[in-house]
This record gives sequence, structure tokens and C-alpha cells, in this order.
Amino acid sequence: MIPPQVAYRKPNNINEVLSLLHDLGDDCKIIAGGHSLIPVMKLRLNDPENLIDITGIPELKEIRDNEKSITIGACATHAEIARNEVLRQHAPMITTAASMIGDIAVRNFGTIGGSIAHADPAADWPAVLLAANASIVIKSTDGQREVDIDQFFQGMFTTAVQESELITAIRIPKTAFNANSTYVKFSQPASRFAIVGCAAAVEKGGEARVAFNGVSATPFRDTAIEKAIMAGADIETATANTADAVSVMSDHFAQSAYRKHLAAVYARKALSAVL
Ligand SMILES: Cc1cc2nc3c(=O)[nH]c(=O)nc-3n(C[C@H](O)[C@H](O)[C@H](O)COP(=O)(O)OP(=O)(O)OC[C@H]3O[C@@H](n4cnc5c(N)ncnc54)[C@H](O)[C@@H]3O)c2cc1C
Repeated sequence: MIPPQVAYRKPNNINEVLSLLHDLGDDCKIIAGGHSLIPVMKLRLNDPENLIDITGIPELKEIRDNEKSITIGACATHAEIARNEVLRQHAPMITTAASMIGDIAVRNFGTIGGSIAHADPAADWPAVLLAANASIVIKSTDGQREVDIDQFFQGMFTTAVQESELITAIRIPKTAFNANSTYVKFSQPASRFAIVGCAAAVEKGGEARVAFNGVSATPFRDTAIEKAIMAGADIETATANTADAVSVMSDHFAQSAYRKHLAAVYARKALSAVL
């Protein structure tokens, strides 16, 4: 199907994007890699009059090593993230997850900001960023705010970002648990979207964060697993009640009982790798 006609704009700085978002309101949509938005437009599920292309803004593509954190520009592609050495050293689950997304074309176009703004339940970044204790830097003409990842995902395709706002960066803290982390997934063989994905970040004898995507409509941390691991339980015991606290999805790829089973299997895989 052919997408509807739109006015296309390509600003070269963030302030210009923010002004356009403010002035055009509901009549515009940000486009980054276009790998989710264009299919949605082709299906006429979204029909904006204006597209604001944010891929020509160098600041939004930067991956910066700060003293205590790493910031990933919202327009960094999955491929750029996958080959970043600083991220590999301080948060290996980030580069691992990036390299597992889709195929090479998807990784070369798709961006981390676009993925989390879209908030597909099967996308990989949400679980990884929950486990990483990331925060999301968001700007509008009213200023800047930073949203804790635990408050960011609010439901299927729903986040804390408002229509007039732009995600500018994702902040990853440099912590002992992120330095010892991994991401594993059982993927749909054609698209490689996750049927079940699990990210685990564990500081031995310290903090543990374990998060899932693909399992329920909203990505989530399994705090029962985290508490059990921090209390010294073995992996089998810690994962015995995986995903008990959420409503597990059921679709033609996996019915809920099978998906729940997979969640426990992939939690064990992830924890075996990091413990
Ligand atoms: C064949 C195929 C296979 C895929 N496989 C996987 C996979 O295995 N795992 C996975 O996780 N993903 C997968 N994807 C999704 C892909 O990785 C993209 O990341 C994702 O589609 C969105 O990123 P994008 O940059 O293309 O965003 P776009 O499509 O440009 O935008 C998506 C949405 O986010 C909004 N948006 C974009 N950037 C911002 C911003 N900075 N601030 C605020 N809002 C913004 C847009 O307005 C739009 O609503 C796949 C996609 C395809 C087509």
C-alpha cells in the first residue's frame, strides 16, 4: 500500500524540531528510521499532514561517554549502537540487543528513540532499558525533563512522551550491574521481533534487575526474580514463578501458557550467563 501524501520537513537542529512540534500540534509526526511509522501510515492507522524528519541532526546521533553514564542520542541506529565499544564495555546487554534486532537493513535505519517512542510490546529495547535502569531525556518548547524508565512505558504503544515532545537521548548509568548484563530472546523467525525477550543485569552480591518484553502488553521488571536473586536464591528457585504478576499475552505465535514457560526458560538463560 502507498502511504498518504504529507508535507515533509527536515530541520537541522533540535530547537527547530521543537518549534514545529509546538506550532503544528496534532497535524505532525516525527519520523526517524520510518520502520514503524511508514507501515502504520500505509495501513492508514496514522495520517499526519506533516512529517518532521529528525535524522539530519548530528546531536541526536551522538553516543557520549560521561563520567557516570553513557548517553545515546535518540537517532542513533541499532547498527551504530551494536558497534559501540564504550557501551560494550559498560553495558554489554545494550550492544548484544542492538545486534539482534531485525536484519541489517532494519538495524541500519531503525533508531533507539523511534523504537521506544513506538513501544511495540515485541520490541527489544524496552526490556533492556528497564534492566539497565536507564532514563529518557525528553524536550519540548517548555524545557527538558528526564523520565525514569520505570515510569516511561505505560501500556501497549503508549509511553510518557506527549505529542509536543521529542526524545533526545537515553541515559545509561555506568553501574556494576550493567557491566555484568545480557539480553536473550526467542524471536519470530521472519521479523526477529521477540516472542519472549529477557534482559538481566546483576551485580554479584548487589543489585539485580531482570526485565521482559514480548510477554505482556507492557514491558516489565519481574521484581520477584530480582528479590530472590538478591537474597541468594539459586536460578531455578528464583525463576519458579516467572511472570506470575502480569497478564501474559496470547497470539498466533505463542499461547499464554507457552509464552509464560518461555519467559522462565529465557530468564534462566540470561541469569546463567550473568551469575
Ligand atoms: C522487518 C522489520 C523487523 C524488525 N525487527 C525488529 C526486532 O527484531 N526487534 C525490535 O526491537 N524492533 C524491530 N523492528 C522495529 C525497528 O527496529 C525500529 O526500531 C522501529 O521500527 C522504530 O524505529 P524507527 O527509527 O524506524 O522509528 P519511526 O518508524 O521513524 O518512528 C516510530 C514512532 O516513534 C516516533 N518517534 C521517532 N523518533 C522519536 C523521537 N526521537 N522522539 C519522539 N518520538 C519519536 C514517531 O513519530 C513514530 O510514532 C523491526 C522492523 C521491521 C520493519
